[in-house]
Amino acid sequence: MKEQTLVIFKPDSVARGLVGEITTRFEKVGLKMVAAKMMMVSRELADKHYPASREAFINGMGGKTLENYQEMGIDPVKEVGSADPHEIGLKIREWLVDMIIAGPVLAVVLEGPHAVELVRKMVGHTLPIKSAPGTIRGDYSFDSSALANEGRRPIKNLLHASGELEEAKYEVNLWFTSQEIMTYELSSEQIMK
Ligand code: ADP
Repeated sequence: MKEQTLVIFKPDSVARGLVGEITTRFEKVGLKMVAAKMMMVSRELADKHYPASREAFINGMGGKTLENYQEMGIDPVKEVGSADPHEIGLKIREWLVDMIIAGPVLAVVLEGPHAVELVRKMVGHTLPIKSAPGTIRGDYSFDSSALANEGRRPIKNLLHASGELEEAKYEVNLWFTSQEIMTYELSSEQIMK
């Protein structure tokens, strides 16, 4: 049941000084921080983190964008030059890589039962405009595809969080060595035994 998941405080959350407030939420729910580092991300690491070859990721971003455009009555061809989810996804990926290398980020590994699902639930929907109040994106941001694409930039939604267990294993390994991951017990773990 115990899982590890990667959370990246993207440059917008670091620049807004929200690291402490957001970390407190993860701590309150009982997640254990087992690794953390602040860093400037290399283009090489960003390329591996957002792989152009991961079809599901690229098409998923394109698909979510198209849905958002449809709801808002926006013509995708006029807006981003294509109505093809794959092409849109690749364009967004380029913006994303440029954004994540542009300022300091804080990468952390959180550990706990159901950590991957729990963190995604707390983080909320990709599009802050659709994130429920009570979620981190819903409480601290209001961005949308329409706003972001008009500015030719990625959506500023504060955090990256691994989407599922396999992705989490890949990402934790990509960002941290095994020596950088700590082993210790939280007092709350005793209570939940
Ligand atoms: P999530 O971060 O919720 O897992 P995705 O993996 O689908 O979402 O997308 C990765 C990141 O790409 C998002 O967090 C967001 O910053 C950015 N993004 C997604 N869709 C768009 C879009 N339509 N326009 C601009 N940026 C986007």
